[in-house]
Amino acid sequence: MPDLRKVAKFGGTSMADADAMRRCASIIKADPDKKIIVVSAIAGTTNLLTDMISVSDSGERAEIAGEIRKKHLAILSNLKNPASVEKKILSLLDELDIIALRTQIMTLMLKDEILSFGERLSSIIFTQLLSEESGEDFTWFDARKVIITDNNFGSAEPDVNAISEKATELMEPLIEAGRIVTQGFIGSEKNGATTTLGRGGSDYSAALFAEATDADVLEIWTDVTAIYTTDPRIVPGARPITEISFDEASELSVFGAKVLHPATVVPAIRKNIRVYVGSSIEPDKPGTWIVKESKDKPVIRAISLRKNQTLLTVHSLDMLHRHGYLAKLFQVLSDHKISVDLVTTSEVSVALTLDSDIHASGKQKLNEKILSELREFAEVEIESKLSLIALVGNNLDATAGLSGPVFGALENVNIRMICHGASSHNLCFLVAEDKATDVINVLHDKFIKP
Ligand code: ADP
Ligand code: ASP
Ligand code: MG
Repeated sequence: MPDLRKVAKFGGTSMADADAMRRCASIIKADPDKKIIVVSAIAGTTNLLTDMISVSDSGERAEIAGEIRKKHLAILSNLKNPASVEKKILSLLDELDIIALRTQIMTLMLKDEILSFGERLSSIIFTQLLSEESGEDFTWFDARKVIITDNNFGSAEPDVNAISEKATELMEPLIEAGRIVTQGFIGSEKNGATTTLGRGGSDYSAALFAEATDADVLEIWTDVTAIYTTDPRIVPGARPITEISFDEASELSVFGAKVLHPATVVPAIRKNIRVYVGSSIEPDKPGTWIVKESKDKPVIRAISLRKNQTLLTVHSLDMLHRHGYLAKLFQVLSDHKISVDLVTTSEVSVALTLDSDIHASGKQKLNEKILSELREFAEVEIESKLSLIALVGNNLDATAGLSGPVFGALENVNIRMICHGASSHNLCFLVAEDKATDVINVLHDKFIKP
């Protein structure tokens, strides 16, 4: 059988410390088909870098940079030959100290530059550890040379054609000669400035590398053994899923399942690359295969949760029998780069959900300026502290008698908004944040078949 080409991504918890890194190294050593290894920042580093960006006091920033230094030096000291990468690591940490101390204006461009330190540091240390553990020379590769994006700092959009050209030019010769370790999450725009793909974006990077290098398999190694029927941290009885379709996995991640970045399956669908999700802690436990067509197609496969939702209700009698009203409303939102998730309308009002977790999504937040523009032509109400719950599966739009039992099971819960029918793969609704865990537990017990 000819060699397969696999891209394997290891997330933050898989990079948490030297022991965690050694576990990843043995997974990689055991399978020579894993040609491109994509790593995240060491667990907690991107959060620290985000904190560093958000404080204006240079002393506080330097303190955070100090914490990041300590974390990395602790792992470095666990290497067999730390001296081989010490200079590179110290010079990056010194650069971070200087940025912490000297920055006066925190531009969007500088924010992404700062965020990139996590993956740059972890990938250097991991390349050395992997080479030591496997006895094979792994090549460190700067992802920014290949992951070309636009300049939408914070949630940059990849340029798939440019990425493919760069991968062919710069990565193919390296893959012919050996194996590569590179970074998730980071890229660069056309002038060379560093960009990031949004929080959790390493999964997406790995998928882009897989697409651009014509990989057969994309592997996502994380801290859970598989994609579960719901977040196992919320429902202890959640069960691992053996096989799921691209469409279902895509809906699950879009609606909040953190195990995959929402855009991950998009490149995989374009090139029909099979995706595997498994645990770097328990690599022998069965994981999940994400495939074009899954063998079984349950109506409700899984439930996802997205917190921090804001419901914006826009109400105006002018809407009645008028054309162009919705266009006007969406123009305001689009002018301010507000990304709308769900929409329902009645004759005189429109309800929209927005993700208020700006760090997770990189999206713009509602502010007074936007609200006053909307108030010029409508009454506006805002409700926050809501959670979006999505039932994900197959043929949900065409299954008779589904919503009765679902909402019947929640008869004591105030459901704020329901979206059903737009997609055959989901039914979703909003509830108060403090009710969400109970709601998911009730629905999981009742509708997810053992
Ligand atoms: P990594 O650092 O490897 O990228 P993440 O923390 O981003 O890992 O994603 C893994 C986490 O996703 C799990 O620890 C789990 O809590 C969460 N998660 C949410 N929904 C699901 C789900 N349906 N199945 C598995 N994990 C889920
Ligand atoms: N390190 C980045 C984050 O924490 C990207 C990733 O882990 O996927 O968001
Ligand atoms: Mg992740």
